Amino acid sequence: MRKQIAAANWKMNKTLEDGKTLLGEILGAVSSVPNGQEVIFAVPFPYLYPLQSLVQDKANMFLSAQNCHHKTSGAYTGEVAVDMLDSIGIKHCVVGHSERREYFAESNAVLADKVNLCLGKEITPIFCCGEPLDIREAGTQNQYVELQLQESLFHLDAAALQKVVIAYEPIWAIGTGKTASSAQAQEMHAHLRSVLAGKYGTEIAAEISILYGGSVKGANAVELFSQPDVDGGLVGGASLVAQEFVQIIQALK
Ligand code: PGA
Repeated sequence: MRKQIAAANWKMNKTLEDGKTLLGEILGAVSSVPNGQEVIFAVPFPYLYPLQSLVQDKANMFLSAQNCHHKTSGAYTGEVAVDMLDSIGIKHCVVGHSERREYFAESNAVLADKVNLCLGKEITPIFCCGEPLDIREAGTQNQYVELQLQESLFHLDAAALQKVVIAYEPIWAIGTGKTASSAQAQEMHAHLRSVLAGKYGTEIAAEISILYGGSVKGANAVELFSQPDVDGGLVGGASLVAQEFVQIIQALK
């Protein structure tokens, strides 16, 4: 069975002390995460190492990077390589968040390189896809998101693909308070799963976790996660509030 996942994306928020407090509050309220579920915290790079001791003994809880560079090493001032993440024991990395695509011009081809580097180090890429508002209004979102998968993931063989987590995040719903309806989320997730099935077969497609992201909060998580093809969420704003994120964790199937 595919995993149900609550992933927090802190983005560029919190000091280390604030982050420790937040994580401490969440861990205080969620004493264990059952097999079949995972709780992941994508925190800023400088906090990965200092926060790791808080989760490393907790089953099914992990810290994640929010990004990595698409080259292995070298003269890329200010960047962080996958090998560096691996060397401090990080096992997850968000790849292709829409903010990276938009503000740092990350293309589908560059994201394919990042996915490859992560998988080479047994780091699970949490691969983000999703359409902007104009594409949704034009009604071509299915093709748009399909192309993102094709150009960044479909070079993988089935064994490698099974190690990827996909997060569908419609850009018009990120940080806007405007959530996709559970029906809209389910429709796209089912479409993505059928696209995966077309390429890799239904059994493999059924094993891939597809998270929804975009204004997930405590109050809408149960409804969203109850959809058959929604396997949890990638959560920005609401992951910065302990009580909200705890509710989101508790909403996992
Ligand atoms: P949001 O962000 O929950 O604040 O909409 C989600 C994300 O960007 O991953």
